[in-house]
Amino acid sequence: MTADCDIAVLGAGPAGANAAIQAATGGCSVVLLDEAAQPGGQVWRAKSTSILSAPANSESKAGDALRRAVNQSDITHHGSTRVWQIERVDDVWRLYLLQGNQTEKMTARALILATGAREFVHPIPGWTTPGVHGLAGATALFKDALILPGKNTVVAGAGPLAFFVASEIRRLGGQIAAVITPNSRSEWLRAIPAMSARPDLLARGATWVADLMTSGIPIHWRHAVTAVSGTSQVDAVHFQRVSPDWSPVDKVRTLNADSLCLGHGLIPDTQAAQLAGLELTYRAELGGWVARVAPDGITEVKNLFVCGDGAGILGAAAAVVQGRLAGLAAATGFGAQRSENLYQQLLSQHARAARFGRAATALALPRPGLNRVATPNTIICRCESLTLADIRDEIRTGATSTNAVKAGLRAGMGPCGGRYCQTAVSRLIEHTANLPEGSVAPPTPRPPLRPVPLSAMADDFNYDDLPISKPAPL
Ligand SMILES: Cc1cc2nc3c(=O)[nH]c(=O)nc-3n(C[C@H](O)[C@H](O)[C@H](O)COP(=O)(O)OP(=O)(O)OC[C@H]3O[C@@H](n4cnc5c(N)ncnc54)[C@H](O)[C@@H]3O)c2cc1C
Repeated sequence: MTADCDIAVLGAGPAGANAAIQAATGGCSVVLLDEAAQPGGQVWRAKSTSILSAPANSESKAGDALRRAVNQSDITHHGSTRVWQIERVDDVWRLYLLQGNQTEKMTARALILATGAREFVHPIPGWTTPGVHGLAGATALFKDALILPGKNTVVAGAGPLAFFVASEIRRLGGQIAAVITPNSRSEWLRAIPAMSARPDLLARGATWVADLMTSGIPIHWRHAVTAVSGTSQVDAVHFQRVSPDWSPVDKVRTLNADSLCLGHGLIPDTQAAQLAGLELTYRAELGGWVARVAPDGITEVKNLFVCGDGAGILGAAAAVVQGRLAGLAAATGFGAQRSENLYQQLLSQHARAARFGRAATALALPRPGLNRVATPNTIICRCESLTLADIRDEIRTGATSTNAVKAGLRAGMGPCGGRYCQTAVSRLIEHTANLPEGSVAPPTPRPPLRPVPLSAMADDFNYDDLPISKPAPL
């Protein structure tokens, strides 16, 4: 079968866009697909038209440079395009796309997956109250439209993202009631040698913390938010000291606030990789369940490459370099010349960025004590309104896999496709059934990867083509 292009790249963030540029430089025909209208991914997302005149910062400049590079290349970029199914047919990749309400198919000889990460928010009592935002999700509010999460915000979470979000809210004129992080100061100090592999990024993080401290914003180290109150809006945030495994250990304290940014790390988005045939293994240092991927993006499946946070949470700097390596590897497979010098340089840049990324991921990786925070009435699956008690009862009747909980209760079958609840459900099974961390895998992914209208899935199917068997003789 002849393919529409040499290489299709799914995801136009730092990893995917750089993979596409590198592969196109090697002379390959490349199609770059993303559901966002413009390249940039999560970290370098483009501003909406309403805030185009807002002052530039280092991230918007990096995003603009990436978008210019994509525009100036020979890449065919399809923005606002969702990929909802991936198949391998006769040695060629077939992708099912949704553009508006139109479904399309395309084929490629090689596929590079750069699908990034999704945010993990561990359910706590009251976390579904209006005014609670994901920590990573809050960055989308500022970058997209300069919107603040509220008038007086508590920022709570592990790793560097909490400090970035708090410092950014302050820079944009918002008020921070407090920053609450389960990490201790000594954990941060221990992470510094590894983070020094990228002194520029370390210095940037230090600026956020220094900015908060000099402005007198309280930082509660080794504390976690354990409940939120409010009915139609957050009115108070409750927090406690936590032990090194993040179990709440002390009296509850309360802060008045109208909003909360809450996050417990990022999870590699692996559903596309699973649909393409890759098996996952649990790698805590990479943020959870990931496919086996070499630093240059090569996987166990021929002509399938994975790069960026979807291969393990190592951050944007590592994603850029791994994207270039994956683009180089894919193009080399189609006869492009590979400069050994460039390849070695990229490998060593990736090793440095990955060292920094692993240290940041280790700080943010959710710990077992978090499982002690939710109460029986806490919602775990928002789409299906399933509580901790509902899911725990199902586990106690023998449902000790995410597939079994999904089949029994529909957890993960709502509009989010399990992207918000599946990690919480895995952790709940481990905790309830006394299994080790990382032993309960995500559910088997099923198409569609993204919500698709039934008419698009039915395609050109004709009911008249249904074979109807003859009536049985009476
Ligand atoms: C909500 C969120 C906010 C974040 N904010 C920051 C931040 O402010 N600073 C920071 O340092 N790090 C941030 N991160 C982490 C950051 O995403 C990465 O380190 C970096 O962007 C990784 O680059 P990437 O190219 O691997 O993935 P991404 O930048 O996430 O790019 C992946 C792209 O794939 C696309 N995609 C995935 N699946 C499909 C599909 N089926 N169909 C079509 N398109 C698809 C997505 O739309 C996305 O544009 C954030 C993460 C998340 C989840």
